[in-house]
Amino acid sequence: MYKPTIGLEIHAELNTKSKMFCSCKNDPDEKRPNFNICEVCTAQPGTLPVANEEAIKKVIKTGLALNCNIAENSKFDRKNYFYPDLPKGYQISQYDQPLCENGYLEIDDRKIRIRRIHLEEDTGSLLHPDGADYSLVNLNRAGVPLMELVTEPDITSGQEARKFAEELQLIFRYLGVSDADMEKGLMRVEVNISLSKTTRPGLVGKLGTKVEIKNLNSFRVVQKAIDFEIKRQSELLDSGEKVVLETRGWHDKKEITFSQREKEEAHDYRYFPEPDLPPLHFDVEYIERIKAEIMELPQQKRERFKSEYGLDEKSAEVFVNNKSLGEYFEKVVSELDEWIDQKNNKELRSAIKLASNYLISDVIGILNGKEFNEKSFKLTPENFAEFIKMIHKKEILSKVAKMVLVEMINTGEDPSEIVDANNWRQMEDSAELEKTIKGVILKNQKAVEDYRKGNTNAIQFLSGQVMAATRGTADPEKVRELLEKII
Ligand SMILES: [Zn+2]
Repeated sequence: MYKPTIGLEIHAELNTKSKMFCSCKNDPDEKRPNFNICEVCTAQPGTLPVANEEAIKKVIKTGLALNCNIAENSKFDRKNYFYPDLPKGYQISQYDQPLCENGYLEIDDRKIRIRRIHLEEDTGSLLHPDGADYSLVNLNRAGVPLMELVTEPDITSGQEARKFAEELQLIFRYLGVSDADMEKGLMRVEVNISLSKTTRPGLVGKLGTKVEIKNLNSFRVVQKAIDFEIKRQSELLDSGEKVVLETRGWHDKKEITFSQREKEEAHDYRYFPEPDLPPLHFDVEYIERIKAEIMELPQQKRERFKSEYGLDEKSAEVFVNNKSLGEYFEKVVSELDEWIDQKNNKELRSAIKLASNYLISDVIGILNGKEFNEKSFKLTPENFAEFIKMIHKKEILSKVAKMVLVEMINTGEDPSEIVDANNWRQMEDSAELEKTIKGVILKNQKAVEDYRKGNTNAIQFLSGQVMAATRGTADPEKVRELLEKII
């Protein structure tokens, strides 16, 4: 048996307005190549960098949310290497004094330790046109603030790695530090994995050879690549072969990892302190001010949604993962407070449950794969709450409710207006309902005869006819009761 030891290196582009060391716009959606560039981020001689304070604050904020120690003294360093997408010939990064160290994030009650989080600048990007014997360089991304987070090798499975990365993405988004979109490359996950032999239960032999996996562009792929690598390395070790120290990539179609390059001796980046930027010093008040800006984090929200609204695990998860939907839900609940007798907590709870169910299954269903966004959602929380109240008080029945909901989402209209305009209100008037039932009985004498002869299916048919005649606005139980009474 082998025990996998997995560590992650995660890069996230910060969503600051401007780049890390110049005032160029930081816009990952800019399509025009080399549009957001200047003398500084293209490394013209004689230019000097100025550090973006917003980026520094965002990294500190992330560190605080992830239980890190924040450095009192920090600095930037030069990491020297040559690559065509790196105009300066070095990257400004942080070496021995990262902004944040020794944190952790709990995943399923297990602490995954975070070794460090530091701040650096992103590189430009290269484009290799099909069939051309040259490459193109786009420096829009050069100098964009990039946060690098390194975990300790505490992760033991592909699933755990995926959960960790997903939770981290949520935290970045809740903190508002990064959009962390993996498909757009705004968040990038690299995996380090090695297997060690478990000699006796609970006893692990020395660590095996480390393999690095890069270019993983989704959470699903992170999990799959790790699972694949555990299998591949186990099979190698079982057959007496050696695992090679190397960097591997992920082949999306074949769903396998493949060797990209064998690792040379550790690269010497000749780090030294960046002479063009002053060292950083943070006093306690500065850190405290940043800390005070941290709002509710995903895990706190999960707990609160369960205790405050009585939601189950799964529903709470939906609202936590879709922040906008969660906020909308809370607005609806506060509206419900006004509609529903607050002294009756049980009644409020059941209305809240109703609202949660309609949002999670019906609204999400109607949106049909499109992500919920309150800004583009026509239906206001007030109207949604009123709609829930109408169902709750049985003014409309569930079949009608679904039609009302579609109408409200399309037009943004008031539910009571929609219900009245279509005459969809539940038929309260027994006399009127009786009249309709008598009409149905007259028209369907054969079914009535069948029922009298003991064919119970006939009553089903008759109530179907009544429901159709009332266009779903009658209470089915009451219809049946009256039918039986009259016949
Ligand atoms: Zn610039």
